[in-house]
Order: sequence, then structure tokens, then C-alpha cells
Amino acid sequence: MGHAGYNAFMKDLRTYLAEAKEKGVAMGHFNFSNLEGLWAIFNAAHAVGAPVIVGASEGERDFVGVKQAVALVKSLREEFDFPIFINADHTYSALRVEEAARAGFDAVIFDGAKLGIEENIAKTKEAVAHARAANPNILVEAELGYIGQSSQVLKEVPAGAALTDEAMTTPADAKRFVEETGVDLFAPAVGNVHGIIVAPNYTERLNVERIKEIHQAIPNTHLVLHGGSGLPAEDFIEGIKAGISLVHISTELRVAFRDALSGALTQMPDEKAPYKYLGPARNAMQKAVEEKLALFNARI
Ligand SMILES: [Zn+2]
Repeated sequence: MGHAGYNAFMKDLRTYLAEAKEKGVAMGHFNFSNLEGLWAIFNAAHAVGAPVIVGASEGERDFVGVKQAVALVKSLREEFDFPIFINADHTYSALRVEEAARAGFDAVIFDGAKLGIEENIAKTKEAVAHARAANPNILVEAELGYIGQSSQVLKEVPAGAALTDEAMTTPADAKRFVEETGVDLFAPAVGNVHGIIVAPNYTERLNVERIKEIHQAIPNTHLVLHGGSGLPAEDFIEGIKAGISLVHISTELRVAFRDALSGALTQMPDEKAPYKYLGPARNAMQKAVEEKLALFNARI
């Protein structure tokens, strides 16, 4: 419904997520803010043969264009008959949730993680209503537990991030939140943090036991791991085994893109053609996505 030109035989995102969960693997969600980034993610997913979600936060989709981001993803989906979907990542108002739903995003995240649980539930309910009024088939995700907001390399842990066992999302709160809001996907704070933290005496590690407990409390809701950048491979494997069905990666891709771009500009100081000096950046980002997709889709 409503997807003009969309291959009617292709399964929707809801089905791909359910399949990942059933197989015990996770889908990957990778952020982009330009066409090179989108091609990097698409090429990687196509090479690995794994369905994929691209994400665009408010800032990223403003840069690409809200409707243009959707049009680009749909054009890849149709031309290559390949399951690539687009999520409106970290959205902070019902208005912008509605805008994304109307523009044709397959999924949207309302991010009330910084609010107290009561206000978060109230605002999430409002966002869910706006999203589904605009598109009844859209998937809605929300967050409980603050894990920072920056996809950058940080010298310290974000202030207020829920990194201790006591501060992390509890199974009881997760159950209440999901029951009251009716979201399709749920992003808890389970030791994960946005960005790559390079602070002394800090290593990002997941509380795998907590993931298991939350998964048992809300078995029919997809658990989403944000802030995947910087986590060791074994944490992804254990986290997915414990019930994660979608993993977000952004910062590591930004680092790969920027480092390769910086190298290319140094190596070809007189080159003026963007497609020549941007090519290595796109390829480096593709490689980073491929590695993560191989890991998330490994059945270990
Ligand atoms: Zn995130």
C-alpha cells in the first residue's frame, strides 16, 4: 500500500526483522548523510547478500533532503530488487516523526531517552499515533535509558549515560514501556553508548545478562542495539545470541570515511574531481559495513 513502483513481491522490513530474529542473527543499521555513504552501505549489503537498513538522523536527513533520502533508497531497492530499507534515526519531536512517516520512511525512531520514564512514555505514545496516522504500516522504535547522543570519537563518557548495572534499563520498565506505547522496536541501555569513547580506564562492554532478561520480558518486540561502534566482536555475538535483532553502527563508518578522504586529499593534492577523491572514502566505508554485516549475520 502506498509504495508507488515498489516491487509488490518483495517482503517488507517487518518480515526481514522477523526472519533475522528467527534465524538468531541481526540486521545491520548504518547511517549515511551523502550519496557516497549510501552507495557504500548498499554495495556492502549487496556483496554480503544481507538485507540492510540505512539510517538518517534529523541532521543527516536534513542534509540529504528528507524526501530525497527516501527516493534514493527506493531507487536502489527497485533497480536492484534488493531489500534495503530506510529508518528515520533519532527523532526528537512528533512533528518530525510525522514528516518522516509521510515522506515514506520504512521505520522511525522517537528518541525520548533523555526524559524521565513517565514523560518518555507520554511523548512516545504521541509519536506512535502521529507515525501510524501517516502510515499504518510504518515500524516505530523508541528508547528507554540514556546512552549519549553523539556519533563522534569522544574523550569521555557522555554525562548522564546509563552505564552502571543500576542505571541500565530494567526488564520491568522495558515491559511497561512497550505495553503502554505499543512500539515495534525497543532500544534499551545495556552498557552500550553512542560514539567511540577513548577515555582512560573505560571499555565499552554489554551487559549480556540484562539483554537476555529484557528479551524474556518482551519476547515479541525487536531489541535494538544502538552505539555499536567501539564494541568488541564477541559482544555483538553474545548480544545477538541474547536477543538483539538489529544493530546500529555510525561512528566507525564516519571514521573510515574521513580517514580515507583525508588520505586521498593528501595523495592527490591537485585533484579537483569529487568522484575521484571521494571514491576511496566510499570504498573504505563499504569495507567497514561489510565486516559488520558478516559479523551480525554469522550464526555462531
Ligand atoms: Zn543511535
